[in-house]
Amino acid sequence: MSESQHTDVLIIGAGMSGLMAASVLVAAGRRVMLLDKGRSVGGRLATRRLGAGRADHGAQFFTVRDPEFGAWVERWRAEGLVYVWSHGWSDGSLADAPPDGHPRYAVRDGMNRLAKHLAAQVAAQGADILTDVRVTAVAPQDDGWLLTSEDGRSFTAGAVILTAPAPQTLALLDAGATPLTADGRASLERIRYAPSLCGLYVVEGEVHLPAPGAVQRPDADFVWIADNRRKGISPDATVITVHASGEWSAAHYGAPDAELSEAFERALRPWLAADAWIVEEQIKRWRYAAPTVLHPERFLRIAAHAPLLIGGDAFGAPRVEGAALSGLAIGREM
Ligand SMILES: Cc1cc2nc3c(=O)[nH]c(=O)nc-3n(C[C@H](O)[C@H](O)[C@H](O)COP(=O)(O)OP(=O)(O)OC[C@H]3O[C@@H](n4cnc5c(N)ncnc54)[C@H](O)[C@@H]3O)c2cc1C
Repeated sequence: MSESQHTDVLIIGAGMSGLMAASVLVAAGRRVMLLDKGRSVGGRLATRRLGAGRADHGAQFFTVRDPEFGAWVERWRAEGLVYVWSHGWSDGSLADAPPDGHPRYAVRDGMNRLAKHLAAQVAAQGADILTDVRVTAVAPQDDGWLLTSEDGRSFTAGAVILTAPAPQTLALLDAGATPLTADGRASLERIRYAPSLCGLYVVEGEVHLPAPGAVQRPDADFVWIADNRRKGISPDATVITVHASGEWSAAHYGAPDAELSEAFERALRPWLAADAWIVEEQIKRWRYAAPTVLHPERFLRIAAHAPLLIGGDAFGAPRVEGAALSGLAIGREM
């Protein structure tokens, strides 16, 4: 095994919450290392290239309810990174989206760019960001923590922040024999997530989704259909994102791609012109897409010899803003 790398704070997960926690910590002069099992940063802020186009396949947009997050969003808007995509969604029964006054924000070139932007900023302030590193255990060690990864590397730090989905976080702590109080364990075990199945379709020809290019039907099997070209992130090709509901996704999670694609295409077909055709398609499965039972606080502190804080979008509010606020609160607490 190679020699371990040491830092002040290790953060598992370079999604919205991990990156926001890192932003606070580097600004306070702490040495930070983020570890993510993904090929790139972002987690559920996910954008994929298909043919000549691009599609968001995790978070589709975000909203602002809290002034602290609102201040960040205003900065991103001023930088030209974030824009208002809509003030409301049609359910398909009206020609235009009914504005409800609440801006829905999107990110230029796709949601993942926001994560890349935050990652570049924290890296410029000295943070190390390692992708393709799957942490397998978090273990107590002398005055801090020892993390081991699937590829046999080890990392040590005085403090740890965990932002993976709660079942995975619990598995990491158990693998490292980190003692948990009954309350701490119960808090993590209570958290629940719904899965999400997503279909991405490159379409040649006209797509007639209502303005501004999406339908949202919270009570249907297919809750979201959106045109990434009209969203503004795929100027060279029409790529459609279709999301199934949590219930439908749970019931069909193990079905073969071909079967899923057939069902997604049936949902999409009414929005395509008669002579439009699908030239490419992909199915994406999110096992932990949306927290359905949340921890009421923005993070959970595990009582231990050295700081260990757990956060993410299951801590406070189940959306991009909730993940950001959890990360910011953790960063401050550290
Ligand atoms: C299909 C879908 C649609 C959505 N739509 C919206 C929307 O329209 N609006 C909205 O506000 N929110 C939406 N969300 C939710 C939003 O994406 C999340 O709330 C937010 O991105 C979560 O950020 P996070 O940092 O808490 O978690 P994540 O983004 O999941 O980040 C956790 C990170 O931890 C990493 N990780 C996990 N385990 C390990 C390990 N063992 N070792 C190393 N790294 C690890 C993962 O790779 C990941 O990058 C959607 C989510 C999905 C999946």
